[in-house]
Amino acid sequence: MDYPNSSDKDSTSANALFAFPFPSHELAFQELAADRLFERIPFADRQPIVDAAWAKGVRAAQAIFEETKGNSNFIDICQQHGITVVHRDLDCVYGSQRYFSDFVSKQLVVTLYDRSCELWARQNQMSVSAAQNLILSHEFFHILEVTKLGLTAQDYQVPTLKLGPLVLIKSGVQALSEIGAHGFAYTYFQLLSKKGISYE
Ligand SMILES: [Zn+2]
Repeated sequence: MDYPNSSDKDSTSANALFAFPFPSHELAFQELAADRLFERIPFADRQPIVDAAWAKGVRAAQAIFEETKGNSNFIDICQQHGITVVHRDLDCVYGSQRYFSDFVSKQLVVTLYDRSCELWARQNQMSVSAAQNLILSHEFFHILEVTKLGLTAQDYQVPTLKLGPLVLIKSGVQALSEIGAHGFAYTYFQLLSKKGISYE
């Protein structure tokens, strides 16, 4: 299944590739290209589904920016949406993936892995609080997906099991949720900077 309880991840190699603070629309296609189902997506559909996922993130960012009157603090925004943010003093690495945060939708709890975030902050030459704010903004899009928008990963489905002409199983495309979250974070911080609002 795609996107279970939204464990959020970013590999260190991906960080080296992507521009600060999160990938732009131009780089979003690479997120799709790295998805395990990429080869099963017809060529003509690829760019349109990237654009649609990105646009969903943009619209959500504009709506939240308006709703919160440009609040730059995602701990506040999470709390206002009934989400608890907790910290763990941990560098959370499984295999080749480093996890910065986790969202457990049933409990409405976001966990920030402080040591992992510290490394990311250092790599991007920013304060830990600013880094965690960016990471939380990304996570907040996943919260919105679960609470009201619907999973972006399920907005487009590809057959993963066929028997002759029959499609037995279809799967969503996980990268689309990540692209939506990137579109959200990118747009939100652009709106803040246009208004000259600091996010430290
Ligand atoms: Zn994510």
